[in-house]
Amino acid sequence: MLDVIGKLEANYTGKDLNLCLKAYDFAKSAHENQKRASGEEYFVHPCTVAGILVDLGLDAATVAAAFLHDVIEDTPVSEGDIKQEFGDEVLNLVLGVTKLDRIEFTSLEEEQAENFRKLFVAMAKDIRVIIIKLADRLHNMRSLNFLSNERQQRMARETLEIYAPLAGRLGISQIKCELEDLCLKYLEPDFYEYLSINIEERVKEGYELTDHVVAELKKMLEDSGISGEVFGRRKHLYSIYRKMKEKGKTLDQIFDLIAIRVIVNTVDECYEIFGKIHNKWKPVPGRIKDYIATPKPNMYRSLHTTVVTNFGRVFEIQIRTYEMNHAAEYGIAAHWKYKEKKEGDDLDTRLSWIREVMEWQGGLKDSKEFLSSLKGDVYSSEVLVFTPKGDVISLPKGATPLDFAYHIHSAIGNKCVGAKVNSKMVPLSSTLQVGDVVEVITSQNSKGPSWDWLKIVKSPSARVKIRQFFKKEMKEENVKTGKSMLDAEAKRRGYSLSELLTEESFLVLSNKLSFASQEEMFASVGYGAVSVNQVIVKLLDFYRRTRPQERIKEIPSGRKSQTGGVIVKGMNGLLVRFAGCCNPVPGDEIVGFISRGHGVSVHRKDCTNLKNAEPDRLIEVSWENRTSTAFNAEIKVLGEVQTDVLFAVAAATSELQLEIVSTNGRTDARMGRVIVDFTIRLKDKAALDRLISKLKQDKRVIDVFRAAST
Ligand code: MN
Repeated sequence: MLDVIGKLEANYTGKDLNLCLKAYDFAKSAHENQKRASGEEYFVHPCTVAGILVDLGLDAATVAAAFLHDVIEDTPVSEGDIKQEFGDEVLNLVLGVTKLDRIEFTSLEEEQAENFRKLFVAMAKDIRVIIIKLADRLHNMRSLNFLSNERQQRMARETLEIYAPLAGRLGISQIKCELEDLCLKYLEPDFYEYLSINIEERVKEGYELTDHVVAELKKMLEDSGISGEVFGRRKHLYSIYRKMKEKGKTLDQIFDLIAIRVIVNTVDECYEIFGKIHNKWKPVPGRIKDYIATPKPNMYRSLHTTVVTNFGRVFEIQIRTYEMNHAAEYGIAAHWKYKEKKEGDDLDTRLSWIREVMEWQGGLKDSKEFLSSLKGDVYSSEVLVFTPKGDVISLPKGATPLDFAYHIHSAIGNKCVGAKVNSKMVPLSSTLQVGDVVEVITSQNSKGPSWDWLKIVKSPSARVKIRQFFKKEMKEENVKTGKSMLDAEAKRRGYSLSELLTEESFLVLSNKLSFASQEEMFASVGYGAVSVNQVIVKLLDFYRRTRPQERIKEIPSGRKSQTGGVIVKGMNGLLVRFAGCCNPVPGDEIVGFISRGHGVSVHRKDCTNLKNAEPDRLIEVSWENRTSTAFNAEIKVLGEVQTDVLFAVAAATSELQLEIVSTNGRTDARMGRVIVDFTIRLKDKAALDRLISKLKQDKRVIDVFRAAST
């Protein structure tokens, strides 16, 4: 603990030093007599955390807050005490890292998620909060061996999933690498041990070779009159572990255990040396990376190449300026460490992704969704693609042109109707590759996103923007309309909506169509984003699957085609069929649909299958005046007893002199009623209407419907 005082004195002066020392004293007495799990004094912890931040070059307020970061949570000290002693700036930093309390959580998972969301909000206000938290986590991970195995696993997993990627995203590779190696140690202890032993051996052998390559490169610098440094560095264990896992390689197949780094003064010198290296050694194809021209999303800049050296070994060489090297090691912290040297402040660019996260996080249901979206977005590896103008856009891996469109602007996404990748038209669901040039095609006539898009997009921000669009359409009116449409359709099929739509069936449905609530579903049916049938068919499907004891037979929808009796406007001799879905009969309002290779099919005008038909495929048709052809029409009759229904229909048809072609009945035990499908042969709609009204008057019949199109 003495060494932290030495560190403070070496790095801060005047007011800053006094602030740090005051925080040191305050925390020391607050934590007095407290012990850590390791048995050492608790105060060791805040001291180490503060020390890490001094090394990173953070300012005095951050270091003071680091000393104090656990006092509110773990000691009787109050917010007011800290405000009084240290002011608002330090207090806000401390509060940012303090966990939520006084809130009852139903699960550990929920608690973790909510705490993390709070941390994220605090860090969006002041990024120093997360740097303190990372230093805190680093020390906790270093002393993890004193905790129970269960807590070790939990902490390590949380660190690997959240904190290490966050450090990486902020560009603080020092912390990221150490955290990852510590996680590996607890999550895969055997692998960790294997690697640490075997890598050391190979690295020792490798260093001799490395020395040769380093010497060659130093000579190259000298000959070119460029001053700089060259050295070999072992890669951290976790990156080697990941390479072995992802690419299925053995340790012997991984050549770049050591990377050689060349550090020079200017960007021009980087490229000059880069060229000279390729002139001397053959580069491995696909391994040349220019992160200077196209920095990584975390602002990492460097040139990478892998070359086959004359020593018979492959080496990765990284070339960068001193400034880039500092930025790579310290990331966002370099903002404080090197602030006096910086002219253009890149803090804003570095923080832009946090603003983006804050933008979409408001549209999410709860903290758990926030956390899982965050893991999916910010932390997933990225693809870099280009706009036609050459701007670089970073998207999560697996992203589609829709993600791209929404990334540019939600208005572009909502009006998107197509996309070109590298000048070729592609489906909106295609996966973008690194380096693709993406062009979005929009149309003012677009009705907006469809529900399928929620399944297509990979970035949470796009998902939220699509949802926001739908939300605007969540008007009461749409909800009502949608609900009554579904009601009617369910009824027409002989069910009630409430028996089809249960919590269970909705869950299955929302998995397929991505509805967040039943209201949302009603609304989207109401304004036409989803068709009634799409919903009903899935609900029926579920209903039938979960009730296998009721063997429900459906009349096959295809039936013998009837020709004749219909005039297609302006055309003669066209093959005409009657659509099996809606079975039009003379008197029905009808419309023709020009199908590919099958002539014209005739539908009822209200047939739901035509809703989405292209308008230019529809053609005017009409009934011939004197037709003697008979037609089949399907009706569904509901009653309480099957024989009653059969008698009722038999009586009505014989009275009207109609022929019953087929019947098919089923019992719905839950509703306590029977549903009988009849196919009736008749001449026109008037006859059908007469039959239906006759049946409706019959007491044995509960209801009658014309069969729906399916
Ligand atoms: Mn702590």
